[in-house]
Amino acid sequence: MAWKNTIDPHLYWRVHAWLQYRYGKATKCENPECPQKSNNYSWALLKGKKYGKKRENFIQLCYSCHAKYDFTEHTRELLRKINKNKIVSKETRQKHSNARLGKPLSEETKRKISKIRLERKKRLGYLNSPETREKIRKARIGKKLTEEAKRKVSEARKGKPTHKWTIKSRKKLSESLKRFNRLKTL
Ligand SMILES: [Zn+2]
Repeated sequence: MAWKNTIDPHLYWRVHAWLQYRYGKATKCENPECPQKSNNYSWALLKGKKYGKKRENFIQLCYSCHAKYDFTEHTRELLRKINKNKIVSKETRQKHSNARLGKPLSEETKRKISKIRLERKKRLGYLNSPETREKIRKARIGKKLTEEAKRKVSEARKGKPTHKWTIKSRKKLSESLKRFNRLKTL
């Protein structure tokens, strides 16, 4: 693995995940002098090569050969740390997520959120980002309005033309009429 003191654990996992995904788990030891003591195989970075998504930079080694090849006390310690962190962070994330679920927000937090949203509305003229509004719009399509909402919409529409004719909608109508007339003459 030829780790330096500054090895980036993210890079390490990214590359190993990629290796497994592309080439599967290591299944053999490529050391010709392998003592065949272990049937636990892994991908090992060739000495002098850089960590990266390059198959030719890696060989398959059994645990025993891998350890001899490049494991030092330092890299062993690093691996231990990385594995520990991975487990802890997963658990911690789950814990946080559980704690959040179904827990009512405090008045203080609600006030803060409301203030932030109001400021945003003042600044931009709307509450949600265009992306969010588009999502909401799409989610609404095909959803039936509640009686209350229907009443409100009808109230708001009173005295207004039922359809606003834009150039686009006029063109659409004229085109579909043309198509219809063509079909009639067939
Ligand atoms: Zn071996």
